[in-house]
Amino acid sequence: MSIKDEIIKSLENQKEIFGDELYTHIQLTEIKYKKELDSTLKKNVDKKTKVESSYSIAEFDNITSLENFNNLINTCQKCGLGATRDKFVFGVGNPNADLMIIGEAPGAEEDKQGIPFVGRAGKLLNDILIAIKFNREDVFIANILKCRPPNNRDPLPEEREVCKPYLYKQIDLVQPRIILLLGKVAANVLLNNNDSLMKMRGSVHEINGVKTMVTYHPAALLRNPNWKKPTWEDVQKLRKLYDQLVSK
Ligand code: URA
Repeated sequence: MSIKDEIIKSLENQKEIFGDELYTHIQLTEIKYKKELDSTLKKNVDKKTKVESSYSIAEFDNITSLENFNNLINTCQKCGLGATRDKFVFGVGNPNADLMIIGEAPGAEEDKQGIPFVGRAGKLLNDILIAIKFNREDVFIANILKCRPPNNRDPLPEEREVCKPYLYKQIDLVQPRIILLLGKVAANVLLNNNDSLMKMRGSVHEINGVKTMVTYHPAALLRNPNWKKPTWEDVQKLRKLYDQLVSK
């Protein structure tokens, strides 16, 4: 590995744990993405008005099945990613799952297939699930964002905000007993904080009354295999809590 690659890998690892606090260039990057977002939003304005008015708040609230919910929202154009996505990635799995797993946003393979966690990180997630005696089909898997951010950049604050209600509605419909958040971004968005991953791991949080745990994102484990051991510890704790809650 070249020195440049080593530096990039190390910075990405730091970012996974500490977030953007260590990055002095982050404002410039945000500005660049903001410009990109603004221009796609402008291009989309006609389409957006048409699609947004295609359902009412009452329709949204009255939805009682995941399938109907997917049909209602999968043409979403509430942010610029509606213009750049290939497929809307709603989520997949058991609609009555006791365990719900939430990642950050679709990557290239997910965007192509319309299914979350089907790329390399997804394969690792499947292995993690098998190691704690779950099948992928037993759980429900979704992301904070339903559409892929270009070049897999971090979700922008605007994108997080417009997509969050979709996820809350999914949690409402699935009614899991326990939620596992993968990585710092998903955890910060849903726990409404800016804490480090280290601070959030290991304790039990709550989202709308549902017990919630946090661990490393599988993509981070692919970059840094040293994090597999702490992840293993986290998911064992998760399995224990799951057994306690579900056998009640
Ligand atoms: N990373 C995520 O956070 N979600 C996916 O669906 C794939 C990769």
